[in-house]
Amino acid sequence: MADRIPVVANLFAETPAGPRLTGSRCTACGSGYLPKSDVCHNPACDGAKTEDAEFGPSGTVWSLAIQDYPPPAPVKFDQPYTPYAMGFIDLDDGLRVLGRIDTDDPRSIEPGIRVEMVIGALAHDEEGNEITGWKFKPV
Ligand SMILES: [Zn+2]
Repeated sequence: MADRIPVVANLFAETPAGPRLTGSRCTACGSGYLPKSDVCHNPACDGAKTEDAEFGPSGTVWSLAIQDYPPPAPVKFDQPYTPYAMGFIDLDDGLRVLGRIDTDDPRSIEPGIRVEMVIGALAHDEEGNEITGWKFKPV
């Protein structure tokens, strides 16, 4: 039986409300952090505390590039390699994150389109387990 193995631990989760990135937020100014930060890095903020926060799933493509050739390790992908779009996504709740854009036609993706986060396979290991991560699907 194949398993689903997170590509990185503690950065994302399937919550009862759906897929979310799991970071933190400053209790004073609201700045968001992924991965979690114990302190606020906003130079204009005197806040000393952060709390756990979830981010996503909705956002807008800010910028993107097509990964036309296989990326170097440790990036995981299935063979044969298929080009994909990598986008910077402005999440509606204030975080800008990098993620693969889940589409069969990467060249159809443009800045400004709306996307929604999903958790899915980025690749498979030798035993057929899914290596999972967050991705963004056009909506
Ligand atoms: Zn702050």
